[in-house]
Amino acid sequence: MAHEISHSFDELGNIYDAQGRLGPWWTAEDRSEYHAAAAKLVAQFDSYCPFADLCVNGKQVLTENIADLAGLLVAHDAYVLSLKGKSDVVLNGLTGEQRFFLAFAQRWRKAQGEAALRKQVAVDTHSPGEFRSDTTRNVDAWYKAYDVAPTGKLYLKPEDRVRIW
Ligand SMILES: [Zn+2]
Repeated sequence: MAHEISHSFDELGNIYDAQGRLGPWWTAEDRSEYHAAAAKLVAQFDSYCPFADLCVNGKQVLTENIADLAGLLVAHDAYVLSLKGKSDVVLNGLTGEQRFFLAFAQRWRKAQGEAALRKQVAVDTHSPGEFRSDTTRNVDAWYKAYDVAPTGKLYLKPEDRVRIW
């Protein structure tokens, strides 16, 4: 839900005002700051290559990736608030924080043939699920939940983690 709500004020939604009337309301400064913050996310997704000859186009999928990040951060905030100050509960060997991020990753699982995946990368504004699940790389709480080390494959230095809103 937070993913979709964020589209109402992102690069897609800023062309409609609060009454749904067509008319951009971002300032030139808003737009330049948005694109400056987004540049790291473009580069991050440009580096994902499901095939040796085909990589994700970070600009093509940018708006959806920003919404994924917004959605994940809001959902995590909601999870923390749901605890109402109580401590995390370990179930089946996983903390609540670990289960939260595991559920996010599992949401993107799917069976997809090569032709469909190639087509998605070529034309879709949504990244392949494998890379949508990697949105967690930008969330500090994910590093803490899984004690992700700097040597980890998905590790990003704090300054390389993206925060748009
Ligand atoms: Zn979306």
